[in-house]
Amino acid sequence: MSERTVALVTGANKGIGYEIAAGLGALGWRVGVGARDGRRREEAVAKLRTGGVDAFGVPLDVTDDASVSAAARLLEAEAGGLDVLVNNAGVTGGGQQRPGDVDLATVRTAVEVNVIGVVRVTEAMLPLLRRSASPRIVNMSSGVGSLARQSASAGEHETGPLAVAYSPSKTMLNAVTIQYARALADTNILINAACPGFTATDLNGFRGVRTPQQGAAIAIRLATLPDGGPTGGYFEDAGVIPW
Ligand code: NAP
Repeated sequence: MSERTVALVTGANKGIGYEIAAGLGALGWRVGVGARDGRRREEAVAKLRTGGVDAFGVPLDVTDDASVSAAARLLEAEAGGLDVLVNNAGVTGGGQQRPGDVDLATVRTAVEVNVIGVVRVTEAMLPLLRRSASPRIVNMSSGVGSLARQSASAGEHETGPLAVAYSPSKTMLNAVTIQYARALADTNILINAACPGFTATDLNGFRGVRTPQQGAAIAIRLATLPDGGPTGGYFEDAGVIPW
């Protein structure tokens, strides 16, 4: 394992993922820029390098077994392993998902990327993470995945639009995070779910009110937790989110 901390950020070619890569790179870490499109990936790597980040491209489609296995092999060859995995790649699913007017393909897409994609990448990277001195996993969830906030009594919090695909996919991702935290409780791997807040990115047509840099902050905090820090938690900048 290399002396320097090595991170992989999925969906790092733009938006919040790009800023997570930039923030971790600013710490002097080596950062794998996970992205499925070659041109967008290499543009992001070049921009990060111009900013002084030791970035390298990791071809990665989280919905594709072969792509994810190849990414694990590339990390081994290029960086000698992996210390920190940020599962950031995510989609809304795109199409109709308002209860009463649901396109099932939209639900499948959201679950395939936001849930199964995270499980696929995590399973592939665990053997590398287990060799690290201070491994961390951050799952980029959303506050709209909180069942407490989705319920009618959610009150003041942003609950997001009614959605049968996106919000429930993040709820399942939260449960997945808890399952891994329990399984890894007797290891040094800390795994937590994060909400970036409503951030201006492609995901919401740039309607978000936070900058991608602000959205990246909570993931960077959870990626840099000290040994013995929290695991199996769900956090935003303001603190703990109710499940
Ligand atoms: P974004 O700008 O749309 O970025 C999403 C990233 O995920 C892109 O790099 C995209 O790559 C990548 N991606 C999508 N499907 C992929 C796949 N199959 N394989 C690999 N990469 C894939 O959105 P964002 O707002 O930065 O979202 C980042 C994360 O934050 C997501 O998990 C999202 O759910 C979460 N989040 C965002 C907000 C918000 O307000 N923006 C709020 C709560 C949570 P391409 O460029 O190739 O499509």
